[in-house]
Amino acid sequence: MTDRAPLRLFNSLTRAVEEFSPVRADEASVYTCGPTVYNYPHIGNMRAYVFADTLGRVLSFKGYKLTHVINITDVGHLTDDADAGEDKMEKMAAAKAQSIWDIAKHYTEAYWADVKALNIRQPAHWSIATDYLPQMIEFAKGIAEKHCYELPGGLYFDTSTVADYGRLARAATDEGEGRIEAVEGKRHAADFAIWRKTPPGETRQMEWDSPWGRGAPGWHLECSVMSRELLGLPFDIHTGGIDHREIHHPNEIAQNQAITGCGSLDCAEHSGARMWMHNNFLIDRSGKMSKSAGEFLRLQLLIDKGSHPLAYRMLCLQAHYRSELEFSWENLAAALTRLKRMVMAVAPLNDVPAAATAAHPKLLPLLEKFGAAVGDDLNTPVALTLLDEAIGMKKVPAGEKRALIEAMDAVLGLGLLELDRTALRIRPKNAVIAEAEIDGALDRRAEARAAKDFAASDAIRDALAAKGVEVMDGDPLRWEWKLDLG
Ligand code: AMP
Ligand code: ZN
Repeated sequence: MTDRAPLRLFNSLTRAVEEFSPVRADEASVYTCGPTVYNYPHIGNMRAYVFADTLGRVLSFKGYKLTHVINITDVGHLTDDADAGEDKMEKMAAAKAQSIWDIAKHYTEAYWADVKALNIRQPAHWSIATDYLPQMIEFAKGIAEKHCYELPGGLYFDTSTVADYGRLARAATDEGEGRIEAVEGKRHAADFAIWRKTPPGETRQMEWDSPWGRGAPGWHLECSVMSRELLGLPFDIHTGGIDHREIHHPNEIAQNQAITGCGSLDCAEHSGARMWMHNNFLIDRSGKMSKSAGEFLRLQLLIDKGSHPLAYRMLCLQAHYRSELEFSWENLAAALTRLKRMVMAVAPLNDVPAAATAAHPKLLPLLEKFGAAVGDDLNTPVALTLLDEAIGMKKVPAGEKRALIEAMDAVLGLGLLELDRTALRIRPKNAVIAEAEIDGALDRRAEARAAKDFAASDAIRDALAAKGVEVMDGDPLRWEWKLDLG
């Protein structure tokens, strides 16, 4: 089921909600800045991919043939987004005394595991930065003469050679260039490295020959090159977290202007993408979000505590992507409860074949409102309340109701019809009791109750509670883990 009501999206570059109008009719091309694979992603990072995935799902729902690219940054991202510090990958490899390639493989796989657990659809391409070195060197050659200059440290982009440099950052903050570290000899503070030469006498694990000496590409160059190679310029939508509005994306835009010889950003296409979209941050009062702090909030930690990964997706969808979202264990527990309620409520539809349409007069308006909500700059909080309404709808043909819920869930990606409550009951890592033992205790409790021995029955319930098991009388599932979150 698709929906052709208009799709309006907030474009960070123009600071306006605009109607989506694709470069190629009926197609949509999206590039998402992916993770730097020097460590595990934290759940804040994963919010960026849940957002990009939701955008992709909405584009599919609206009938566009989607080509989505997400890159994997395995070289070039320095510890500072501008040009200072060390390469994050080199630094982690040195700290762990491992090869960068092993580090990259390990953390890429960990990221992909989170992608899968969150029902993030596979993009058409995962582009790995180190697979594109020849193209990066060609791109740099193409802009070097008119837009770059060489310093002992490498090849630098002269930001005064393109029109409107930094408009995206100004749109975001109204204060011009972001935080920039000084590099001696730079013509302007915002100029950035396209190619970083390996300092004399040093070797890096990852380095390549180039006309500007042996070295490695700059992080900003990678995304311009891979998006242009795989989607062509201009493409439709470029996404990332809001931190990328300050330095990374303005720099990508400048490179795209340079390679295409395009002028002013008054025409959004000259930036390389028609729209630039950014998700706001997931914040955490305890400050555990940072990748550099020791223990941080990974999806696996949520699972270890007995939450389901899709409860985190639910938490993300409950907020608009442009709002800051505060993470707390209470919010996560509430999102898990909401997910369980939905899964329980759709269970009667599990064996009902879906009808071809949901044209019933009580269902069709819900589908239309849903299309309008997600078309209104991805208003997922409203879309979720419409899903609740659809699930609660009585006296409608079951096959049509199922078709409607399937269509809504294809956009939200909660997997409601594939999940059951047993799957949502995840064994917390610190659980001290096995499932078989719980079932045995509950059978003994049933016998005690049948014999009207309520003292024994209560004692069994209390003993289970002490081991983190919540008995639920009258529920077919009989028991749940009592989640010790936080
Ligand atoms: P990185 O691996 O550091 O390049 O970040 C991957 C993605 O996560 C980027 O799109 C960032 O903008 C985004 N990001 C980083 N921190 C957060 C956060 N706390 N909440 C939401 N997105 C974030
Ligand atoms: Zn990028």
